[in-house]
Amino acid sequence: MTDDMLSLLKELENKLDQPIENLLRLIKKYHRPDGSHWNYASIIEQYKKLAGTNGLKKFNPKLVEKILMKPVRTISGVAPVTVLTKPYPCPGKCIFCPNDLRMPKSYLADEPGAQRAEKNYFDPYLQVTNRLEALHSMGHQVDKVELIILGGTWTAYPESYQIWFIKECFRAMNDFQIKNDSEEIVKKYQNFQKKFQETEKKWQTKTFLSNNATENKENFAKLQIKGEKIEETYNDLVTKYYLQPENALGVVRYQRATWSELEAQQLKNETAMQRSVGLVIETRPDEINKESVKKIRRLGATKVQLGIQSLDDEILRKNKRGHNVAVVRKAFALLRQAGFKLHIHFMANLYGGSVAKDKRDFAKLFKDQDFRPDELKIYPCSLIETAELMQYYKKGLWKPYSHEELLKITAFTLTHTPLYCRITRMIRDIPSQDIVIGNTKSNFRQIAEDYAKKNKQKMQDIRSREIRTQSFVMDEVKLQIKNYATSVSNEKFLQFTYQDKILAFLRLSLPKQKSNAVIDELSGSAMIREIHVYGRSLAIGDKADEKAQHFGFGKKLIAKAAAISKAAGFKKLAVISAIGTKEYYRQRNFKDGELYQFLEI
Ligand code: SF4
Repeated sequence: MTDDMLSLLKELENKLDQPIENLLRLIKKYHRPDGSHWNYASIIEQYKKLAGTNGLKKFNPKLVEKILMKPVRTISGVAPVTVLTKPYPCPGKCIFCPNDLRMPKSYLADEPGAQRAEKNYFDPYLQVTNRLEALHSMGHQVDKVELIILGGTWTAYPESYQIWFIKECFRAMNDFQIKNDSEEIVKKYQNFQKKFQETEKKWQTKTFLSNNATENKENFAKLQIKGEKIEETYNDLVTKYYLQPENALGVVRYQRATWSELEAQQLKNETAMQRSVGLVIETRPDEINKESVKKIRRLGATKVQLGIQSLDDEILRKNKRGHNVAVVRKAFALLRQAGFKLHIHFMANLYGGSVAKDKRDFAKLFKDQDFRPDELKIYPCSLIETAELMQYYKKGLWKPYSHEELLKITAFTLTHTPLYCRITRMIRDIPSQDIVIGNTKSNFRQIAEDYAKKNKQKMQDIRSREIRTQSFVMDEVKLQIKNYATSVSNEKFLQFTYQDKILAFLRLSLPKQKSNAVIDELSGSAMIREIHVYGRSLAIGDKADEKAQHFGFGKKLIAKAAAISKAAGFKKLAVISAIGTKEYYRQRNFKDGELYQFLEI
């Protein structure tokens, strides 16, 4: 604990009656010793430990509640649970990508999510259970879970590992079974600890990987690739130190499952207390084909994070991405025809790029009908010691953007993102000690927003319009529809808004071709790709526990989507439901198909 944290807690105690926005600003005033901001979980953890000591008042649950009102995690009423796959070779050779041998490709052992995964031996069951437990103990609702599976290239892992990994995630959710009974929580947690120790033993006897980060750091220090001098690649070393021992010791036998084992856990999850309301995987565009799209859907996924990085063939080539823009176009078309939400990773400041090229490229992302994604992560390139980019930097071939340049490109992306897209992250939150040179500010979105506002530039992406904790007047809520076309569909973005804020939305896709080239059962159907109702908003005069989800926005949006689809000549409305939302749609007269649900209209 630092003096800075103590001062922050004292200030929070004294200003507890102020609006949440003021408290959030106050939190941003304080920093960890490394200059980064305190995250909310550590503030709550320290407060629980320190309340009643060091000049702090007695523990006041209101303070925890107030911090939990912060918009980032609770705005949607959905608990995001991020899990990482094990270190594994990646088909990509991208020069900017970190080569941290303790991690799946592209992740860094110092990132908070990565640390959690390492402590849990990258075991999916342990990761999900521990995360649910942590979120629950901080007071979050954990009945609706968005499972975000990160690490390298998902589709490059063996099929049996993919099935096992997701089966274990579902099993963890199904076993958790916690509502709000504190005795039950304690009992569950004790059982879980036992389970953890058993799995821990299994790992310790079978691999040299420890759940102790310091120990791992020491073990791997000598092996770790240094980008300036790469003699062996990440793939070579990971094969040597993970895959070969795993094969020899039979870990692979333990990390596999059949489709029917997965389907049994999925079926349980349909009515479990902790349900998957979304499942996300990440991959590369050249891994997308008809077969992989079907498989991803069969696993239960509803969204795909696709690293496209650039829409300039020359930049893709220079950065050794291993695919061109034509491949990205094809991946978009296939995923969109299967109804997936498209979450794109876009990078700036790549080798061979410039602010002008980045702006042109970013504009293309929305001007060109082949793209037009639903969500975006904008990651200007950071220089990491283990990346091959170090060689380019040393030779003076690449350098990071200045603060001004970074500001120009990030503000441009913020102000050129249409209202149907959400920028989920701007600047990857890399721990500052891992960045060799360049920007270390993780609050760059805020800086870029201030810059855009100062220059009177308008932002309309979903995230900048979310209602969050703001009140609204029901009579003044409007339904608006934004139409836009893609090369394979006419998209309708239906949104309930209050003033300039968004309360709920639905993504409706009307395919241009009646016959679906990717998924047979979707032929002739319009498609709901996403429904999102924000959870914490309150109507003026309503009780504090009444949320936007209870105003029937979801139902009204489905009815409108059905009417639009019918008027456009469709006889069926499909939905790419998550495993845990199937019941919701059944109650609204949708019937189960093979991989989707359908409403006769
Ligand atoms: S595909 Fe992704 S994970 Fe693989 S090397 Fe390229 S950036 Fe890294």
